[in-house]
Amino acid sequence: MTAAQRHRVTVIPGDGVGPEVTRSAVRVIEAAGVAVDWEEAEAGAEVFRRGDSSGVPSETRDSIERTRVVLKGPLETPIGFGEKSANVTLRKLFETYANVRPARELPGVPTRYAGEGVDMVIVRENVEDLYAGIEHMQTPDVGQCLKIISRKGSEKVIRYAFELARREGRTKVTCATKANIMKLTEGLFKRVFEEMAPEYPEIEPEHLIIDNVAHQFAKAPAQFDIVVTTNLNGDIISDLASGLVGGLGFAASGNYGAEVAIFEAVHGSAPKYAGRDVINPTALILSAVMMLRHLGEHAAADTVENAVFVTLESGAAVTQDLARQTGGDIEHAASTTGYTDAVIANLGRRPANPPRGRGHVRPAQSPTPRPAWSYAADAYGRISRRLVGVDVMIESDLSVAVLAADLEAAAGPALRLETVTSRGTKIWPGEVVGDSVRWYTGRFVAPEGGVEPDEGEILALLGRIGARHRWTQVERLQAFDGQDGFTKAAGE
Ligand code: NAD
Repeated sequence: MTAAQRHRVTVIPGDGVGPEVTRSAVRVIEAAGVAVDWEEAEAGAEVFRRGDSSGVPSETRDSIERTRVVLKGPLETPIGFGEKSANVTLRKLFETYANVRPARELPGVPTRYAGEGVDMVIVRENVEDLYAGIEHMQTPDVGQCLKIISRKGSEKVIRYAFELARREGRTKVTCATKANIMKLTEGLFKRVFEEMAPEYPEIEPEHLIIDNVAHQFAKAPAQFDIVVTTNLNGDIISDLASGLVGGLGFAASGNYGAEVAIFEAVHGSAPKYAGRDVINPTALILSAVMMLRHLGEHAAADTVENAVFVTLESGAAVTQDLARQTGGDIEHAASTTGYTDAVIANLGRRPANPPRGRGHVRPAQSPTPRPAWSYAADAYGRISRRLVGVDVMIESDLSVAVLAADLEAAAGPALRLETVTSRGTKIWPGEVVGDSVRWYTGRFVAPEGGVEPDEGEILALLGRIGARHRWTQVERLQAFDGQDGFTKAAGE
């Protein structure tokens, strides 16, 4: 693409402070001379209020399908049971599987780590995990959220992280998981990382447990280069990372998919500041810099980024959040508009002390990952599957001894009762521990070496249990190539 080219971008002003920060970013892009035809589109609170429970109307979806590039303000998530987050919906609808969040020391933004050279990029899986949003109330007071991690979803984002490292000349990728506890979900992510790492011999692969990552971020954040992680981990540690380099007012992000990219600040709609012209627009301006690089507008991206650095470095226009951090004059802090004017006035200037480090998404093109290399269809098909039992979740007020006796009676020769567990802890057979929440799991297993139970036997078992108890869920216990595809209970 050449700089003379016109671009089409969907702009979603969003909620709360959203319209103020998007207006600011759009003004800066236009002042930098980039020719953009903006398609303004709606999503978020007002859409929910009109009764569209997705929060993303079809006109907005159509616009994104046309433009494939989005600059968006934050969207408020209604705190109710029905509606999903419109942010998450947008990321999922367009399969923007890699959420890229750089955290870099900025000039003029003093932090506890100033001078250490913090310059990292967090690559957060953006579609799966607990954000799949598959939740079920099991009883009136037991909720459940399914954590979904797939090999293909993991491959896509991990490939993205390694390719980003390669293109930016970065030397280390840290995979951050909780694989020690969630062996089949976070563990799968870790295994895929370890399988893929040898394809990138020039990059040092490292795995750290996510809690240690939080600890290391606070202690010595400059050791990190690229961090790739699952969705919830990434959500939390990227906010933490933004706190290391000046706070949410400075934290930019891009959501990249194969077709669509969505650029937004990490922060939310900050409702208490809405309409007051006080919010710091840097986060969205720096997200717009990422967008310009994605569009191939590298010179303009550098110009805007440098203008932000010059503005911060000069200290001539300091927004309230930064004034608060530096002990500055909050009363006379720069407004959103005033700060934006200053950035525009600084277009074309270069900072005296640009940030150390490589910066983010520097390459000629933002990385397009190679296709994920999930199992070839034939290899996938060859993995053997064996049904070894079922877990049946049951709501019950009975004592464990009575419930277990009942379940034993319901079991038959094809499936015997092995354990009763409560929230993942074995409570039968043996000592009963823990507090009852009136929700149990009966684990029924086929005799070792015996024949696989058939569907009829499972249904008959459920029928016998259902005649006396309220069962809420059933899970098949399978072994894949002889490996258990399920976890043991604590205490088992
Ligand atoms: P928030 O990020 O809106 O605000 C938290 C605090 O951070 C603010 O009170 C403010 O002190 C500070 N802050 C945030 N952005 C700032 C900026 N640009 N300049 C200066 N200070 C800034 O988080 P919240 O209050 O937890 O969430 C408010 C709403 O935003 C919720 O509805 C939430 O669901 C939504 N949200 C949306 C997104 C998104 O659109 N991607 C992200 C996070 C939260």
